[in-house]
Amino acid sequence: MIVMPRFFVAEQPENGVLTLRGENAHHAGRVLRLRPGEPVTLCDGKGTDFDCTIASVEKESVVCHVQRSHPTETEPKQQLTLFMALPKGDKMEFIVQKAVELGVREIVPYLSKNCVSRPDKTEKKVERWQKIALEAAKQCGRGYLPAVGAVVSFEQAAAQAAQSETALFFYENERQTGLRDALSDGVGKTVSLVIGPEGGFAPVEAELAVRTGLTSVSLGTRILRCETAPVAALAAVLYAGGNM
Ligand code: SAM
Repeated sequence: MIVMPRFFVAEQPENGVLTLRGENAHHAGRVLRLRPGEPVTLCDGKGTDFDCTIASVEKESVVCHVQRSHPTETEPKQQLTLFMALPKGDKMEFIVQKAVELGVREIVPYLSKNCVSRPDKTEKKVERWQKIALEAAKQCGRGYLPAVGAVVSFEQAAAQAAQSETALFFYENERQTGLRDALSDGVGKTVSLVIGPEGGFAPVEAELAVRTGLTSVSLGTRILRCETAPVAALAAVLYAGGNM
């Protein structure tokens, strides 16, 4: 499948025309050197693609004529939300990039007892993670621009995660329920995946998670790194949900 050059735009077409401006115009005209007549896909970031033909290329604007609009074909069947405990260093950048490639709709960073990294100011980090999400979404051809939320507490994350039809708490000490068992009745339309930090979860957090309605599941007998676990968990849920 050839992934056409792809840009996220905030506005809807007017009289069949969409215009790339600013950074988008620069990328299209100067970096990709797209020319009039060439095809390009514009996406509203909410699941609709506009297959366009470039009409004109100027320094500050690239005018595109919409040939066809249709639901994006690249989104998973389920709406996936990753709840990720703040890891050390710049691991979160890797996790955000992989999670977007693996189809998450939202990433909720949270602080739990064993998080080593406890920055008091996280706005700038969240802004950077959101940029990484945008780049990853363009690269892999997403139809939605995944949102990276503000950092919340574990309690808030657990409560939000429990609202999904399938709410999975990936617990390194879980010995009874494997992910396959937990998904044996199928995957809900909305799925939460809660992953802990390098230091794992405190027992009291695991108790709270289950009390809140999350299903404690194992990813097998080995301990995965906090940056490996979300990749493995998302891939398995995508597979179980009929997306691969
Ligand atoms: N410090 C913990 C230990 O040594 O037992 C390991 C935590 S692990 C590095 C980080 C997170 O990845 C865990 O909190 C959990 O969410 C997830 N994880 C890693 N391996 C897992 C497994 N085998 N089953 C379920 N979750 C796992």
